[in-house]
Amino acid sequence: MDSASHIKILILDDDTFMLKLLSRMLVKLGYTAITTCDNGSDALKKIDHADTCPDLILLDLNMPDMDGIEFVRYLVDRQYHGKLVLVSGEDERMLKTAERLVHAHKIPMLGYVHKPVDPGKLAEILLGWTANALNPLSPSRKIYSADDIKSAIAHQELVNYYQPKVSVENGDVIGVETLVRWHHPQDGVIMPDRFIHIAEDNNLIDDLTRLVLTQAIVQAGKWHQSGLTLRVSINVTMDNLASLNFQDMVVNLVNENNLPPQKIVIEITESQVMGPDARIPLEILTRLRLKRFHLSIDDFGTGHSSLSQLRDIPFNELKIDQGFVHRAWSDDTLRAIYDASLAMGKQLGMDIVAEGVEDRNDWELLRETGCDMAQGNFISEPLLADDLPRWMEEWQNRVRAGLLDNPPAS
Ligand code: C2E
Ligand code: CA
Ligand code: CA
Repeated sequence: MDSASHIKILILDDDTFMLKLLSRMLVKLGYTAITTCDNGSDALKKIDHADTCPDLILLDLNMPDMDGIEFVRYLVDRQYHGKLVLVSGEDERMLKTAERLVHAHKIPMLGYVHKPVDPGKLAEILLGWTANALNPLSPSRKIYSADDIKSAIAHQELVNYYQPKVSVENGDVIGVETLVRWHHPQDGVIMPDRFIHIAEDNNLIDDLTRLVLTQAIVQAGKWHQSGLTLRVSINVTMDNLASLNFQDMVVNLVNENNLPPQKIVIEITESQVMGPDARIPLEILTRLRLKRFHLSIDDFGTGHSSLSQLRDIPFNELKIDQGFVHRAWSDDTLRAIYDASLAMGKQLGMDIVAEGVEDRNDWELLRETGCDMAQGNFISEPLLADDLPRWMEEWQNRVRAGLLDNPPAS
């Protein structure tokens, strides 16, 4: 396994014996580019430098100064894009909770191992991942540059997919969320998690959003003309809301395409809403709302100050993050968060969308609890616009075949 030596691994644990033990296990597995740190601050310094930034971190949860969870928060701030394995002496429940937290922060986790560490378990976790990561030609490993993305925008290689949002009560198709993909001429379909942050960091997000928004609104206009009056949601980041031009662009596009503004939904991720200067975004959002555009608070439950955002911004819709929806029927903690988000949104008069509805059990929970809308792979994966009519027929058939049979919340 010579090429495993190319993978940079950082081990963070306050216990120096553990550092030695884990290093030895990794070396045996063929990983030799190992750095060890016994505190979070030193580890962050490594992460801040491109040449020492690891591909994988083995992270201890319990550390005296900066604990593992706090460390993860700093990883998020740094937009760390490597992988993570949690290592801890805590019980299964605690590790699962930590895993969910990491997941909610969208940091890719390979898994967790209990202390004392079983070398077999560690090998099992690392091997599957390494097989892919080892191949330098593998498109899933390639990191794109700002120029790559600039060129993708210029050549219109960004393609909108649309994921349906349906009424939980009667199965009606209410709208679609626009999700961008990059149809790369060599590497195939590239998912947004691999290029949105690069666009954001390199001043390209306005151009990207303009392209996505234009395509989405033109498509919405076509649907409306054909009698399909779908609401079309578009993801917008904080950076887009830094300039007052944004609202002129949206308003012009909607006018040119003869669309009622209430059919366009702007989805804002909550952790992005409150920047250092929230006045301009606040002004833009308030003015869009006055013009009857719909505003949606995305990924609810995962950000920092969600409650103050609910106070400050007149949202019409609240999207409960998929991390609190899928399997909430079988997990008390998820269920409590799901219920609280639903109740709060309802009390504030918002439409509630549950994301990440992956199976029938998830769907039945939404029916039982009176959630307004559902989105997720159980209903449909994101689709190309041309595939929507065929999906709608299939969906009608599924609804007729009994998706609404169990009684909804009274
Ligand atoms: P998001 O807005 O939270 O979008 C939902 C993500 O969940 C999508 O991933 C979607 O494909 C995925 N998803 C849908 N149903 C299910 C399900 O049942 N199970 C699971 N596990 N996942 C499901 P996608 O398309 O990869 O997008 C990832 C993120 O990229 C989005 O998260 C959004 O934050 C961002 N994004 C996508 N398009 C754009 C865009 O045009 N502009 C901006 N600024 N961000 C975008
Ligand atoms: Ca979204
Ligand atoms: Ca979301």
